[in-house]
Amino acid sequence: MLRLFNTLTRKKEIFKPLAKKVVKIYTCGPTVYNRAHIGNLRTYLWEDILKRTLEYLGYKVEHAMNITDVGHLTSDEDTGEDKIELGAKKEGLSPLTLARKYEKKFFQDLKRLNIKKPDKIARATQTVKEQIALIKILEKKGFTYRSRYAIYFDTSKLKDYGKLNPQKDKKELLVGAREEVVIDKEKKNPQDFVLWFFLEGRYKNHILRWPSPWGEGFPGWHIECSAISRKLLGQPFDIHCGGQEHIPIHHTNEIAQSEAAFEKPLALFWIHGEFLMVEGEKMSKSKGNFYTLDDLKKNGFGPLDFRYLTLSTHYQSPLNFTWEGIKSAQNALSNLKKFLKTVEFYPSLSKKKNKLNQYKKMFIKALENNLNTPQALAVLWQLIKDEEINLTEKKKLILDFDKVLGLGLEKEVIFSLPSKIKKMVGQREQLRKNKQFIQADTLRKNIEALGYKIEDTPKGPLISYQK
Ligand code: AMP
Ligand code: ZN
Repeated sequence: MLRLFNTLTRKKEIFKPLAKKVVKIYTCGPTVYNRAHIGNLRTYLWEDILKRTLEYLGYKVEHAMNITDVGHLTSDEDTGEDKIELGAKKEGLSPLTLARKYEKKFFQDLKRLNIKKPDKIARATQTVKEQIALIKILEKKGFTYRSRYAIYFDTSKLKDYGKLNPQKDKKELLVGAREEVVIDKEKKNPQDFVLWFFLEGRYKNHILRWPSPWGEGFPGWHIECSAISRKLLGQPFDIHCGGQEHIPIHHTNEIAQSEAAFEKPLALFWIHGEFLMVEGEKMSKSKGNFYTLDDLKKNGFGPLDFRYLTLSTHYQSPLNFTWEGIKSAQNALSNLKKFLKTVEFYPSLSKKKNKLNQYKKMFIKALENNLNTPQALAVLWQLIKDEEINLTEKKKLILDFDKVLGLGLEKEVIFSLPSKIKKMVGQREQLRKNKQFIQADTLRKNIEALGYKIEDTPKGPLISYQK
Protein backbone atom coordinates (compact mmCIF):
# COMPACT_ATOMS: atom_id res chain seq x y z
CA MET A 1 0.00 0.00 0.00
CA LEU A 2 1.42 3.33 -1.07
CA ARG A 3 1.80 5.85 1.72
CA LEU A 4 2.60 9.48 1.00
CA PHE A 5 3.21 12.43 3.28
CA ASN A 6 0.30 14.80 2.80
CA THR A 7 1.07 18.42 3.71
CA LEU A 8 -2.64 19.03 4.18
CA THR A 9 -2.88 16.61 7.13
CA ARG A 10 0.83 16.54 8.07
CA LYS A 11 0.71 12.76 8.08
CA LYS A 12 1.85 9.87 6.00
CA GLU A 13 -1.44 8.67 4.59
CA ILE A 14 -2.47 5.65 2.56
CA PHE A 15 -2.94 6.86 -0.98
CA LYS A 16 -6.16 5.94 -2.74
CA PRO A 17 -7.01 7.64 -6.01
CA LEU A 18 -10.43 9.11 -6.71
CA ALA A 19 -10.88 6.79 -9.68
CA LYS A 20 -9.83 3.20 -9.22
CA LYS A 21 -6.94 2.87 -11.61
CA VAL A 22 -6.22 6.41 -12.76
CA VAL A 23 -4.21 8.98 -10.82
CA LYS A 24 -4.44 12.64 -11.75
CA ILE A 25 -1.40 14.70 -10.82
CA TYR A 26 -0.73 18.39 -11.19
CA THR A 27 2.77 19.78 -10.85
CA CYS A 28 3.51 23.49 -10.88
CA GLY A 29 5.65 24.15 -13.92
CA PRO A 30 8.53 26.52 -14.52
CA THR A 31 8.54 30.27 -14.87
CA VAL A 32 10.33 30.44 -18.18
CA TYR A 33 12.44 33.59 -17.89
CA ASN A 34 15.78 31.90 -17.43
CA ARG A 35 17.53 28.55 -17.57
CA ALA A 36 16.34 26.04 -14.94
CA HIS A 37 19.00 25.34 -12.31
CA ILE A 38 19.60 21.94 -10.78
CA GLY A 39 17.65 23.03 -7.68
CA ASN A 40 14.52 23.47 -9.81
CA LEU A 41 15.32 20.20 -11.51
CA ARG A 42 15.52 18.33 -8.20
CA THR A 43 11.82 19.09 -7.77
CA TYR A 44 10.91 17.81 -11.25
CA LEU A 45 13.01 14.71 -10.57
CA TRP A 46 11.18 13.56 -7.46
CA GLU A 47 7.87 14.38 -9.11
CA ASP A 48 8.98 12.05 -11.90
CA ILE A 49 9.77 9.34 -9.33
CA LEU A 50 6.28 9.74 -7.90
CA LYS A 51 4.76 9.36 -11.34
CA ARG A 52 6.91 6.36 -12.25
CA THR A 53 6.18 4.71 -8.88
CA LEU A 54 2.44 5.04 -9.47
CA GLU A 55 2.87 3.54 -12.94
CA TYR A 56 5.02 0.73 -11.52
CA LEU A 57 2.26 -0.02 -9.04
CA GLY A 58 -0.17 -0.41 -11.92
CA TYR A 59 -1.92 2.95 -12.09
CA LYS A 60 -2.43 4.98 -15.20
CA VAL A 61 -1.17 8.48 -14.50
CA GLU A 62 -2.60 11.62 -16.02
CA HIS A 63 -0.05 14.32 -15.41
CA ALA A 64 -0.72 18.00 -16.07
CA MET A 65 1.60 20.98 -15.77
CA ASN A 66 1.45 24.70 -16.43
CA ILE A 67 4.06 26.92 -18.01
CA THR A 68 4.23 30.33 -16.34
CA ASP A 69 4.83 32.89 -19.04
CA VAL A 70 3.08 35.85 -17.44
CA GLY A 71 2.09 37.12 -14.01
CA HIS A 72 4.85 35.73 -11.77
CA LEU A 73 6.47 38.68 -10.06
CA THR A 74 9.99 38.87 -8.71
CA SER A 75 9.65 37.87 -5.12
CA ASP A 76 13.04 38.44 -3.59
CA GLU A 77 12.86 42.20 -3.52
CA ASP A 78 9.93 44.47 -2.85
CA THR A 79 9.87 45.74 -6.39
CA GLY A 80 7.55 43.15 -7.88
CA GLU A 81 8.24 43.22 -11.59
CA ASP A 82 6.94 40.49 -13.85
CA LYS A 83 9.81 37.98 -14.20
CA ILE A 84 9.18 37.39 -17.89
CA GLU A 85 8.98 41.08 -18.81
CA LEU A 86 12.09 41.84 -16.78
CA GLY A 87 14.01 38.97 -18.41
CA ALA A 88 12.83 40.08 -21.84
CA LYS A 89 14.17 43.60 -21.25
CA LYS A 90 17.52 42.21 -20.10
CA GLU A 91 17.89 40.01 -23.19
CA GLY A 92 16.37 42.50 -25.65
CA LEU A 93 13.67 40.03 -26.69
CA SER A 94 9.90 40.20 -26.69
CA PRO A 95 8.39 38.55 -23.59
CA LEU A 96 6.93 35.68 -25.58
CA THR A 97 10.13 35.07 -27.54
CA LEU A 98 12.01 34.88 -24.26
CA ALA A 99 9.39 32.58 -22.74
CA ARG A 100 9.41 30.18 -25.68
CA LYS A 101 13.21 30.10 -25.70
CA TYR A 102 13.43 28.98 -22.07
CA GLU A 103 10.43 26.70 -22.31
CA LYS A 104 12.28 24.82 -25.05
CA LYS A 105 15.42 24.60 -22.94
CA PHE A 106 13.38 23.41 -19.99
CA PHE A 107 11.97 20.47 -21.92
CA GLN A 108 15.44 19.67 -23.25
CA ASP A 109 16.68 19.53 -19.65
CA LEU A 110 13.83 17.20 -18.65
CA LYS A 111 14.70 14.91 -21.53
CA ARG A 112 18.36 14.79 -20.57
CA LEU A 113 17.32 13.78 -17.06
CA ASN A 114 14.95 11.05 -18.31
CA ILE A 115 12.01 12.91 -16.80
CA LYS A 116 8.80 11.87 -18.50
CA LYS A 117 7.00 14.76 -20.15
CA PRO A 118 3.61 15.67 -18.65
CA ASP A 119 0.66 14.35 -20.65
CA LYS A 120 -1.01 17.74 -20.65
CA ILE A 121 0.68 21.11 -20.66
CA ALA A 122 -0.86 24.59 -20.77
CA ARG A 123 0.67 28.05 -20.84
CA ALA A 124 -0.63 30.87 -18.67
CA THR A 125 -0.83 33.22 -21.68
CA GLN A 126 -3.02 30.75 -23.53
CA THR A 127 -5.51 30.20 -20.73
CA VAL A 128 -6.37 33.79 -19.88
CA LYS A 129 -9.98 33.14 -20.90
CA GLU A 130 -10.29 30.39 -18.26
CA GLN A 131 -8.57 32.56 -15.67
CA ILE A 132 -10.98 35.43 -16.31
CA ALA A 133 -13.92 33.03 -16.08
CA LEU A 134 -12.67 31.86 -12.68
CA ILE A 135 -12.22 35.41 -11.39
CA LYS A 136 -15.79 36.16 -12.53
CA ILE A 137 -17.09 33.26 -10.41
CA LEU A 138 -15.13 34.52 -7.42
CA GLU A 139 -16.48 38.02 -8.02
CA LYS A 140 -20.04 36.77 -8.17
CA LYS A 141 -19.59 34.95 -4.89
CA GLY A 142 -18.26 38.07 -3.20
CA PHE A 143 -14.63 37.00 -2.79
CA THR A 144 -13.09 39.89 -4.71
CA TYR A 145 -12.64 43.63 -4.46
CA ARG A 146 -11.08 46.22 -6.64
CA SER A 147 -8.40 48.85 -6.07
CA ARG A 148 -6.81 51.27 -8.50
CA TYR A 149 -4.11 48.69 -9.20
CA ALA A 150 -5.75 45.31 -9.11
CA ILE A 151 -8.61 42.93 -8.45
CA TYR A 152 -7.85 41.19 -5.17
CA PHE A 153 -8.96 37.99 -3.53
CA ASP A 154 -10.35 38.90 -0.12
CA THR A 155 -8.83 36.29 2.18
CA SER A 156 -10.94 37.40 5.16
CA LYS A 157 -14.00 36.00 3.37
CA LEU A 158 -12.68 32.46 3.46
CA LYS A 159 -13.00 30.67 6.81
CA ASP A 160 -10.12 28.25 6.43
CA TYR A 161 -7.69 30.43 4.50
CA GLY A 162 -4.14 29.18 5.12
CA LYS A 163 -5.12 25.65 6.12
CA LEU A 164 -2.16 24.20 4.22
CA ASN A 165 0.11 26.04 6.60
CA PRO A 166 -1.68 26.00 9.95
CA GLN A 167 1.12 25.81 12.50
CA LYS A 168 3.17 28.60 11.06
CA ASP A 169 2.30 32.08 12.25
CA LYS A 170 0.84 34.20 9.55
CA LYS A 171 4.07 36.12 9.06
CA GLU A 172 5.12 34.01 6.09
CA LEU A 173 1.80 34.66 4.41
CA LEU A 174 2.25 38.38 4.96
CA VAL A 175 5.69 38.46 3.41
CA GLY A 176 4.48 36.83 0.23
CA ALA A 177 1.52 39.09 0.01
CA ARG A 178 3.55 42.22 0.54
CA GLU A 179 5.86 41.37 -2.32
CA GLU A 180 2.97 40.67 -4.58
CA VAL A 181 2.20 44.19 -5.78
CA VAL A 182 3.08 47.86 -5.46
CA ILE A 183 2.26 49.29 -2.07
CA ASP A 184 -1.46 49.60 -2.37
CA LYS A 185 -3.27 51.52 0.34
CA GLU A 186 -6.59 50.12 -0.77
CA LYS A 187 -5.57 46.54 -0.02
CA LYS A 188 -7.76 45.31 2.84
CA ASN A 189 -5.79 42.45 4.38
CA PRO A 190 -2.06 41.89 4.09
CA GLN A 191 -2.56 38.31 2.85
CA ASP A 192 -4.96 39.33 0.07
CA PHE A 193 -3.49 38.54 -3.30
CA VAL A 194 -3.94 39.76 -6.83
CA LEU A 195 -6.19 38.00 -9.30
CA TRP A 196 -5.94 40.60 -12.05
CA PHE A 197 -3.45 43.46 -12.49
CA PHE A 198 -4.40 46.72 -14.16
CA LEU A 199 -2.00 48.65 -16.35
CA GLU A 200 -1.33 51.14 -13.60
CA GLY A 201 1.77 52.40 -11.83
CA ARG A 202 4.69 50.07 -12.45
CA TYR A 203 2.61 48.01 -14.86
CA LYS A 204 1.67 50.88 -17.18
CA ASN A 205 3.92 49.57 -19.91
CA HIS A 206 3.36 45.89 -19.34
CA ILE A 207 3.60 44.35 -22.79
CA LEU A 208 1.54 41.19 -22.20
CA ARG A 209 -2.00 42.47 -21.71
CA TRP A 210 -5.55 41.30 -22.30
CA PRO A 211 -9.01 42.89 -22.17
CA SER A 212 -11.16 41.79 -19.24
CA PRO A 213 -14.52 42.72 -17.72
CA TRP A 214 -12.58 44.89 -15.23
CA GLY A 215 -10.28 46.61 -17.69
CA GLU A 216 -7.14 45.83 -19.62
CA GLY A 217 -4.41 44.02 -17.68
CA PHE A 218 -2.89 40.65 -16.93
CA PRO A 219 -3.58 37.78 -14.53
CA GLY A 220 -1.86 37.14 -11.21
CA TRP A 221 0.31 34.08 -10.79
CA HIS A 222 -1.84 31.87 -8.55
CA ILE A 223 -5.00 32.07 -10.64
CA GLU A 224 -3.27 30.36 -13.57
CA CYS A 225 -2.69 27.15 -11.63
CA SER A 226 -6.28 27.06 -10.35
CA ALA A 227 -7.64 27.61 -13.86
CA ILE A 228 -5.21 25.30 -15.66
CA SER A 229 -5.46 22.38 -13.23
CA ARG A 230 -9.24 22.53 -13.48
CA LYS A 231 -9.16 22.74 -17.24
CA LEU A 232 -6.72 19.85 -17.66
CA LEU A 233 -7.71 17.52 -14.81
CA GLY A 234 -11.03 18.66 -13.37
CA GLN A 235 -11.64 19.30 -9.69
CA PRO A 236 -10.88 17.63 -7.40
CA PHE A 237 -7.87 15.71 -8.66
CA ASP A 238 -5.61 13.34 -6.75
CA ILE A 239 -2.19 14.87 -6.14
CA HIS A 240 -0.77 18.37 -6.32
CA CYS A 241 3.02 18.68 -6.09
CA GLY A 242 5.64 21.37 -5.83
CA GLY A 243 8.60 22.76 -3.94
CA GLN A 244 8.00 23.43 -0.27
CA GLU A 245 8.31 27.22 -0.56
CA HIS A 246 4.94 27.10 -2.32
CA ILE A 247 3.15 25.97 0.83
CA PRO A 248 2.55 29.38 2.48
CA ILE A 249 1.68 31.44 -0.58
CA HIS A 250 1.22 29.92 -4.00
CA HIS A 251 -0.49 26.69 -3.00
CA THR A 252 -2.37 28.33 -0.16
CA ASN A 253 -3.79 30.79 -2.67
CA GLU A 254 -4.56 28.14 -5.27
CA ILE A 255 -6.60 26.32 -2.63
CA ALA A 256 -8.34 29.54 -1.61
CA GLN A 257 -9.41 30.40 -5.16
CA SER A 258 -10.48 26.95 -6.30
CA GLU A 259 -12.30 26.00 -3.14
CA ALA A 260 -14.02 29.38 -2.80
CA ALA A 261 -15.21 29.15 -6.40
CA PHE A 262 -16.37 25.53 -6.50
CA GLU A 263 -16.90 24.55 -2.86
CA LYS A 264 -14.97 21.32 -3.14
CA PRO A 265 -11.36 20.38 -2.56
CA LEU A 266 -8.82 21.23 -5.23
CA ALA A 267 -6.64 18.16 -4.60
CA LEU A 268 -6.67 15.35 -2.08
CA PHE A 269 -2.93 15.03 -1.55
CA TRP A 270 -0.50 17.94 -1.41
CA ILE A 271 3.07 16.78 -1.68
CA HIS A 272 6.07 19.03 -1.20
CA GLY A 273 9.75 18.33 -1.62
CA GLU A 274 12.76 19.85 0.09
CA PHE A 275 15.38 22.05 -1.49
CA LEU A 276 18.69 21.49 -3.10
CA MET A 277 21.11 23.50 -1.00
CA VAL A 278 24.58 24.94 -1.44
CA GLU A 279 26.60 25.47 1.72
CA GLY A 280 23.51 25.46 3.84
CA GLU A 281 21.52 27.87 1.65
CA LYS A 282 18.75 27.19 -0.84
CA MET A 283 20.11 27.07 -4.38
CA SER A 284 18.44 29.99 -6.12
CA LYS A 285 18.81 32.32 -9.03
CA SER A 286 18.64 35.41 -6.86
CA LYS A 287 21.50 34.27 -4.62
CA GLY A 288 23.59 33.36 -7.65
CA ASN A 289 24.63 30.07 -5.98
CA PHE A 290 23.26 27.88 -8.75
CA TYR A 291 24.41 25.46 -11.41
CA THR A 292 22.72 24.28 -14.58
CA LEU A 293 23.10 20.92 -16.31
CA ASP A 294 25.61 22.60 -18.63
CA ASP A 295 27.72 23.63 -15.62
CA LEU A 296 27.72 20.01 -14.49
CA LYS A 297 28.76 18.93 -17.98
CA LYS A 298 31.68 21.38 -17.98
CA ASN A 299 32.85 19.71 -14.78
CA GLY A 300 32.60 16.23 -16.23
CA PHE A 301 29.20 15.17 -14.87
CA GLY A 302 26.23 13.93 -16.86
CA PRO A 303 22.54 14.63 -16.15
CA LEU A 304 22.05 11.05 -14.97
CA ASP A 305 24.83 11.43 -12.41
CA PHE A 306 22.69 14.21 -10.98
CA ARG A 307 19.59 12.05 -11.19
CA TYR A 308 21.38 9.33 -9.21
CA LEU A 309 22.52 11.92 -6.66
CA THR A 310 18.95 13.09 -6.03
CA LEU A 311 17.76 9.49 -5.63
CA SER A 312 20.26 8.92 -2.87
CA THR A 313 18.51 11.45 -0.60
CA HIS A 314 14.87 11.30 0.41
CA TYR A 315 12.85 13.96 -1.42
CA GLN A 316 11.69 15.46 1.86
CA SER A 317 15.21 15.98 3.19
CA PRO A 318 17.40 18.88 2.13
CA LEU A 319 20.19 17.80 -0.20
CA ASN A 320 23.42 19.73 0.04
CA PHE A 321 25.06 19.93 -3.38
CA THR A 322 28.83 19.41 -3.38
CA TRP A 323 31.25 18.34 -6.09
CA GLU A 324 32.36 15.41 -3.91
CA GLY A 325 28.73 14.38 -3.59
CA ILE A 326 28.11 14.30 -7.31
CA LYS A 327 31.47 12.57 -7.83
CA SER A 328 30.43 9.69 -5.59
CA ALA A 329 27.04 9.52 -7.34
CA GLN A 330 28.91 9.30 -10.63
CA ASN A 331 31.12 6.52 -9.27
CA ALA A 332 28.12 4.59 -8.02
CA LEU A 333 26.32 4.91 -11.35
CA SER A 334 29.43 3.92 -13.21
CA ASN A 335 29.84 0.80 -11.03
CA LEU A 336 26.22 -0.05 -11.67
CA LYS A 337 26.74 0.23 -15.42
CA LYS A 338 29.90 -1.91 -15.21
CA PHE A 339 27.92 -4.55 -13.38
CA LEU A 340 25.26 -4.54 -16.09
CA LYS A 341 27.92 -5.05 -18.73
CA THR A 342 29.32 -8.14 -17.03
CA VAL A 343 28.58 -11.65 -18.30
CA GLU A 344 29.41 -15.03 -16.74
CA PHE A 345 31.21 -17.38 -19.08
CA TYR A 346 29.72 -20.37 -17.25
CA PRO A 347 26.22 -19.18 -16.38
CA SER A 348 25.37 -20.20 -12.84
CA LEU A 349 21.91 -21.07 -11.63
CA SER A 350 20.19 -19.21 -8.83
CA LYS A 351 20.37 -21.14 -5.60
CA LYS A 352 17.12 -19.77 -4.29
CA LYS A 353 14.39 -19.18 -6.82
CA ASN A 354 12.00 -17.11 -4.73
CA LYS A 355 14.75 -14.78 -3.51
CA LEU A 356 14.39 -12.61 -6.59
CA ASN A 357 10.79 -12.02 -5.67
CA GLN A 358 11.82 -10.95 -2.19
CA TYR A 359 14.03 -8.24 -3.68
CA LYS A 360 11.20 -6.97 -5.81
CA LYS A 361 8.99 -6.84 -2.73
CA MET A 362 11.65 -4.97 -0.77
CA PHE A 363 12.06 -2.48 -3.61
CA ILE A 364 8.31 -1.87 -3.77
CA LYS A 365 8.11 -1.59 0.00
CA ALA A 366 10.77 1.13 0.01
CA LEU A 367 8.92 3.15 -2.62
CA GLU A 368 5.56 2.59 -0.98
CA ASN A 369 6.98 4.11 2.16
CA ASN A 370 6.66 7.71 0.98
CA LEU A 371 9.03 7.19 -1.98
CA ASN A 372 12.07 6.11 -0.01
CA THR A 373 14.51 6.10 -2.93
CA PRO A 374 17.69 5.81 -0.80
CA GLN A 375 16.25 2.57 0.57
CA ALA A 376 15.27 1.43 -2.93
CA LEU A 377 18.87 1.98 -4.06
CA ALA A 378 20.11 0.04 -1.03
CA VAL A 379 17.92 -2.89 -2.12
CA LEU A 380 19.45 -2.71 -5.58
CA TRP A 381 23.02 -2.86 -4.23
CA GLN A 382 22.11 -5.68 -1.88
CA LEU A 383 20.74 -7.60 -4.87
CA ILE A 384 23.96 -7.03 -6.81
CA LYS A 385 26.02 -8.49 -3.97
CA ASP A 386 23.78 -11.51 -3.42
CA GLU A 387 25.76 -14.64 -4.31
CA GLU A 388 22.68 -16.82 -4.47
CA ILE A 389 21.14 -15.21 -7.53
CA ASN A 390 22.50 -15.55 -11.01
CA LEU A 391 23.76 -12.60 -12.98
CA THR A 392 21.18 -12.64 -15.76
CA GLU A 393 18.28 -12.65 -13.30
CA LYS A 394 19.84 -9.83 -11.33
CA LYS A 395 20.22 -7.74 -14.44
CA LYS A 396 16.65 -8.37 -15.53
CA LEU A 397 15.36 -7.28 -12.14
CA ILE A 398 17.54 -4.17 -12.16
CA LEU A 399 16.08 -3.19 -15.53
CA ASP A 400 12.67 -3.65 -13.99
CA PHE A 401 13.67 -1.36 -11.07
CA ASP A 402 14.88 1.16 -13.60
CA LYS A 403 11.31 1.72 -14.75
CA VAL A 404 11.13 3.77 -11.56
CA LEU A 405 14.72 4.91 -11.13
CA GLY A 406 14.95 6.15 -14.72
CA LEU A 407 18.73 5.87 -14.98
CA GLY A 408 18.64 4.78 -18.62
CA LEU A 409 20.10 1.36 -17.74
CA GLU A 410 18.50 -0.49 -20.62
CA LYS A 411 21.07 0.82 -23.03
CA GLU A 412 23.91 -0.17 -20.68
CA VAL A 413 23.09 -3.82 -20.18
CA ILE A 414 24.50 -6.80 -22.06
CA PHE A 415 23.13 -10.28 -21.56
CA SER A 416 25.44 -12.25 -23.82
CA LEU A 417 28.81 -11.91 -25.50
CA PRO A 418 29.28 -11.56 -29.26
CA SER A 419 30.08 -15.03 -30.64
CA LYS A 420 33.60 -13.98 -31.63
CA ILE A 421 34.43 -12.95 -28.05
CA LYS A 422 32.76 -16.03 -26.64
CA LYS A 423 34.92 -18.19 -28.87
CA MET A 424 38.11 -16.38 -27.86
CA VAL A 425 37.29 -16.73 -24.16
CA GLY A 426 36.61 -20.44 -24.68
CA GLN A 427 39.97 -20.87 -26.40
CA ARG A 428 41.67 -19.05 -23.55
CA GLU A 429 40.00 -21.36 -21.04
CA GLN A 430 41.32 -24.33 -22.97
CA LEU A 431 44.84 -22.88 -23.04
CA ARG A 432 44.70 -22.32 -19.30
CA LYS A 433 43.60 -25.88 -18.75
CA ASN A 434 46.57 -27.00 -20.82
CA LYS A 435 48.80 -24.75 -18.70
CA GLN A 436 49.76 -22.76 -21.81
CA PHE A 437 49.74 -19.57 -19.76
CA ILE A 438 51.77 -17.39 -22.10
CA GLN A 439 49.42 -18.05 -25.01
CA ALA A 440 46.43 -17.61 -22.71
CA ASP A 441 47.73 -14.24 -21.67
CA THR A 442 48.24 -13.12 -25.25
CA LEU A 443 44.68 -14.10 -26.01
CA ARG A 444 43.48 -12.14 -22.95
CA LYS A 445 45.22 -9.06 -24.32
CA ASN A 446 43.58 -9.57 -27.71
CA ILE A 447 40.20 -9.85 -25.99
CA GLU A 448 40.91 -6.70 -24.00
CA ALA A 449 41.86 -4.85 -27.14
CA LEU A 450 38.34 -5.56 -28.38
CA GLY A 451 36.94 -3.84 -25.27
CA TYR A 452 36.26 -6.84 -23.00
CA LYS A 453 37.91 -7.25 -19.63
CA ILE A 454 38.30 -10.66 -18.02
CA GLU A 455 38.25 -11.36 -14.32
CA ASP A 456 39.00 -14.92 -13.30
CA THR A 457 36.90 -16.08 -10.37
CA PRO A 458 36.41 -19.50 -8.71
CA LYS A 459 33.18 -19.78 -10.76
CA GLY A 460 35.03 -19.14 -13.99
CA PRO A 461 35.73 -15.99 -15.96
CA LEU A 462 33.54 -12.90 -15.69
CA ILE A 463 33.73 -10.80 -18.82
CA SER A 464 32.77 -7.16 -18.79
CA TYR A 465 32.37 -4.85 -21.70
CA GLN A 466 34.31 -1.69 -21.01
CA LYS A 467 32.61 0.91 -23.17
P1 AMP B 1 10.27 28.45 -10.65
O1 AMP B 1 10.70 28.22 -12.08
O2 AMP B 1 11.09 29.49 -9.95
O3 AMP B 1 8.79 28.71 -10.54
O4 AMP B 1 10.57 27.10 -9.85
C1 AMP B 1 10.23 25.86 -10.36
C2 AMP B 1 10.25 24.83 -9.28
O5 AMP B 1 11.54 24.67 -8.73
C3 AMP B 1 9.31 25.12 -8.10
O6 AMP B 1 8.51 23.99 -7.83
C4 AMP B 1 10.25 25.41 -6.96
O7 AMP B 1 9.71 24.98 -5.74
C5 AMP B 1 11.45 24.57 -7.32
N1 AMP B 1 12.72 25.05 -6.71
C6 AMP B 1 13.28 26.27 -6.77
N2 AMP B 1 14.47 26.30 -6.12
C7 AMP B 1 14.68 25.04 -5.65
C8 AMP B 1 15.74 24.39 -4.92
N3 AMP B 1 16.85 25.03 -4.53
N4 AMP B 1 15.61 23.08 -4.63
C9 AMP B 1 14.51 22.38 -5.04
N5 AMP B 1 13.48 22.93 -5.73
C10 AMP B 1 13.56 24.24 -6.04
ZN1 ZN C 1 1.29 26.50 -9.41
